[in-house]
Amino acid sequence: MVPTLSFDRLRSILVATVTHLPDHRTQPNRIYEMADAALGAFAVFFVQSPSFLAHQLDMQRVRGQNNAQSLFGIDQVPSDGQIRNLLDPIIPEHLTPPFWRVFEHLRDGAYLQAYQGHLGQWLCALDGTQYFSSQKIHCAQCTVRVINERPYYSHSLVAPLIVAPGENRVIALEPEFVRPQDGSEKQDCELRAAERWLRRNASRFPVGALTLLGDDLYCHQPFCELVLAQHCHFVFTCKPESHPALYQEIELLTQAGGVFEVSQRRWTGQRHEIWRYRYATRVPLRADPQPLYVNWCEVTITDEATGELLYRNAWATDHALTESGLHSFVIAARTRWKSENENNNVLKNYGYHLEHNFGHGQQYLALVLVMLNLLAFLFHTVLDLCDEQYRRVRTELAARQTFFHDVQALTRYLYFDSWQVLINFMFTQLELDTNSPSPPRKRAKRRS
Ligand SMILES: [Zn+2]
Repeated sequence: MVPTLSFDRLRSILVATVTHLPDHRTQPNRIYEMADAALGAFAVFFVQSPSFLAHQLDMQRVRGQNNAQSLFGIDQVPSDGQIRNLLDPIIPEHLTPPFWRVFEHLRDGAYLQAYQGHLGQWLCALDGTQYFSSQKIHCAQCTVRVINERPYYSHSLVAPLIVAPGENRVIALEPEFVRPQDGSEKQDCELRAAERWLRRNASRFPVGALTLLGDDLYCHQPFCELVLAQHCHFVFTCKPESHPALYQEIELLTQAGGVFEVSQRRWTGQRHEIWRYRYATRVPLRADPQPLYVNWCEVTITDEATGELLYRNAWATDHALTESGLHSFVIAARTRWKSENENNNVLKNYGYHLEHNFGHGQQYLALVLVMLNLLAFLFHTVLDLCDEQYRRVRTELAARQTFFHDVQALTRYLYFDSWQVLINFMFTQLELDTNSPSPPRKRAKRRS
């Protein structure tokens, strides 16, 4: 029997990891445990409030109890400075286990059945995101570029996400950072980071069950060969400007009748669209004495009434392409866009908390905080998948900000015994009914 993924269950997964973080203090100050520092930063991200810990210290003074302790299990509420000092020496790899424990619980609890339909595969979108840049602030893990003799510092990562067509929730997996690599002369980059991730994690999935989705950057012969060597599949955007040899071949094949064309008329509920597919099998990915042969598919979508071009893209893949499978292939390929939207939200909008609360750190802090931020995002996604009450409250407070504003205000002024008690309080106050399913609701939807 797989236990339900309640908030407390998720928190215990995190606690199991953070209680074993190495303590680098030469004279350990036993008032603040490492776990308190990690849970403190996590709590700030989870409620999306830079002031959460300060408010809980106030509450502790006035009431003798606080929500940091009751909701998150933080023994002694640390200050931002203490969090910075304690977490800065921690290598981010220490925080990878919760990503996989959560994924395994979701998978084994059959919460992810909707994620395995298309192509019979897990679809994993690879997406590189730069989440920090500065001309002044930097740390040992920054990527440095010198432009006009001035250094530019940045942080980026590859955040792999399990996605599914028609499913707006994405499951964050362990990320891989673009950062200086020991013993390497070359500057690290997104593609090399993705290679490391794949070598480390491909075996976590059954042989042949993982399809990687990515943009044109990944559509690169050595990377595609690595994907195949790791017994995975790929569907990567394939642009003409970066694949001249492949497109030359497509042109020759077109003249020889070797490119298949299919048109489908599709009703969206609002308009008729014409989906025009062109596809070819076994074309060389690049000019090379030993090219990798891939299958190629292009789709052009136009509005039937106006002729307006709505969408055009092309992909290279190792999956077999058949006429009957073209539509679901393209639908699967396009789910990659979800990762861009979701990640940009998480990493860019929440960047505020990263820098303003805790500073940049000198060793690993900027990486550790992103790991905790991604875990907070993952936990919200999981609750949305698994916890009906949470989902109903979120739906009711549909504008994202409202939910968090309410959580922030409530936890500032009121004490709750647990996260579940807090959600239950919101659920009751919003007069949501456990017996009626999600919308339609009895009242008009609130706006912000
Ligand atoms: Zn840095």
